[in-house]
Amino acid sequence: MIDTVSLFCSHVEELEAYDAPDWQALAACAGLPVERLVRLDTNENPYGPSPAVREALSCYDGYGYYPDYRALTAAVAHYAGVAPENVILGNGGDEIIDLAVRLFIEPGEGVVVCPPAFGMYAVCTRGHRGLVLAIPRHADFSLDVAAIEALVGDPAAEARPKLLFVTSPGNPDGQAIPLATIRRLLQLPLAVVVDEAYIEFGGSSAVPLLEAHDNLIVLRTFSKWAGLAGLRLGYALASPQVVGALERLRPPYNVNAAAVVAALATFGDMSGVQAVMAQIAGERERLQAALAALPGVLPLPSQANFVLCRFEGHSGKKLAGALAERGILVRSFSDPSLVDALRITVGRPDQNDAFLATLRTVLRVPTAAGPKEDNAQPTVHQSHVHRKGAIRRQTQETDVTVTLDLDGTGHYEIDTGLGFLDHMLAQMAAHGLIDLTVRAHGDLHVDEHHTVEDVAIALGQALDQALGERRGIVRMGHCYAPLDEALARVVVDLSGRPYAVVDVEFATPRIGVLSTDLIIHFLETLAVHARLSLHASVRYGRNDHHKAEALFKALGRALDAATCLDPRRQGIPSTKGVL
Ligand code: PMP
Repeated sequence: MIDTVSLFCSHVEELEAYDAPDWQALAACAGLPVERLVRLDTNENPYGPSPAVREALSCYDGYGYYPDYRALTAAVAHYAGVAPENVILGNGGDEIIDLAVRLFIEPGEGVVVCPPAFGMYAVCTRGHRGLVLAIPRHADFSLDVAAIEALVGDPAAEARPKLLFVTSPGNPDGQAIPLATIRRLLQLPLAVVVDEAYIEFGGSSAVPLLEAHDNLIVLRTFSKWAGLAGLRLGYALASPQVVGALERLRPPYNVNAAAVVAALATFGDMSGVQAVMAQIAGERERLQAALAALPGVLPLPSQANFVLCRFEGHSGKKLAGALAERGILVRSFSDPSLVDALRITVGRPDQNDAFLATLRTVLRVPTAAGPKEDNAQPTVHQSHVHRKGAIRRQTQETDVTVTLDLDGTGHYEIDTGLGFLDHMLAQMAAHGLIDLTVRAHGDLHVDEHHTVEDVAIALGQALDQALGERRGIVRMGHCYAPLDEALARVVVDLSGRPYAVVDVEFATPRIGVLSTDLIIHFLETLAVHARLSLHASVRYGRNDHHKAEALFKALGRALDAATCLDPRRQGIPSTKGVL
């Protein structure tokens, strides 16, 4: 028997294998099926990929062949605003990190990392026998640029530093690095990797610096914004010389065919993907506000899809353990500067609610404040607040994305697959001065019911989200709208009380592709999910198209009137103090 172990490279003994979480075991500990775990620990996109990805993968029949990267390289270049010669694809951002270390580091040479930092920089450095040179970040997570400069200029340094990794927005802190700092670092005689794994969620990209700086490599991934973590696709943007050298090290066909198809499909649905990101950004603000309201809990500002939060007097590891026992996974740290911290990935609203409720239990914080306390809060006038909503609703039957801005100009982009519904929503947006995008892929081969209903639910939820606490609004609004012989009247009260009285009689069963009874169902569903009282009626008219159109125009205008901010109404517009 040959002693194979004695043949191993000596440095491998010192390396540790990556220990991915065992979700089955974690679920078993929490007494839950694995799909009910709330996974807020690895910064994935809780909505997964665009529905266009599923569609494209289900039609793709090229799995028997090696993939071709030309189309995707060109699409990435276009997306990033560079030339295809500046792009190299990797099997996840992780492979780009590995390739960069292989390109620049001979055994014994130094890689500068700035802890707390993403672990793969050190893992890949050690894997290629480089030396990790750590320059810890300041307490506020800004880079210690002077110390990096001193290290690079130090002839007695432990190892010659040749490569620097920085992350913007940072992991685990979520804060972006100012471009002025990156410019200063690029003056050093080093290759600088700016890891922009989270750049789609915030911060200024270093890409414009590529032209003037040959030593800059920008690293990106499809894992986060595009929801493709499981397909492993990342890329680097760099000078053609650096890309050419990385190409020599890259294994052929390192990116699989499914990832190529999925990424191209993602680029084909940018408005849908952006709506999802807007929703994540909205949830991030909500999560931060809810955390900040808890005693001794200090969330940091974040420009990424996660929030780093300190818990005064608590051990992050113990808190994470207590949450995990209840099926909620978040990230804790061994780094001494983060022993009281957790990193929480921004999840879907239901996941964030589950996390917050469980956290309150674990911290023994009494639940929701009563109305009196609510009244005592300082009044924040909503004119300072972005009144936007973004909802994605995915079911077995439909996939609906809605974004809206109550303070818009009436700009709309609507595609539900149902022409007449699109026309009605356009009327509502234009007359309500609401910027509105609606995209729906529904099971129209069955019939239009699920699509109409789910669009109404998502639209209602987006309205509710945009209205927030509903402080300072006029609250009630009404409009009579004529269309030739037809006259509609809509009265709304943004009371938080879902109620709908829809008094309309249509003479025909359908208008275009839309069954007329679904128009009534749409309005009722909208009222429930927007938490408003709606009284809608058609007083008279002959033509069904006219009746419906007048209704949606009146709805838009009534909503516009009710959602208006009135500077005299600073608080919650109710004598109860709550809506
Ligand atoms: N950089 C940072 C800062 C990350 O957090 C991650 C993923 N957690 C990556 C790079 C790599 O991502 P992937 O390999 O999934 O593309």
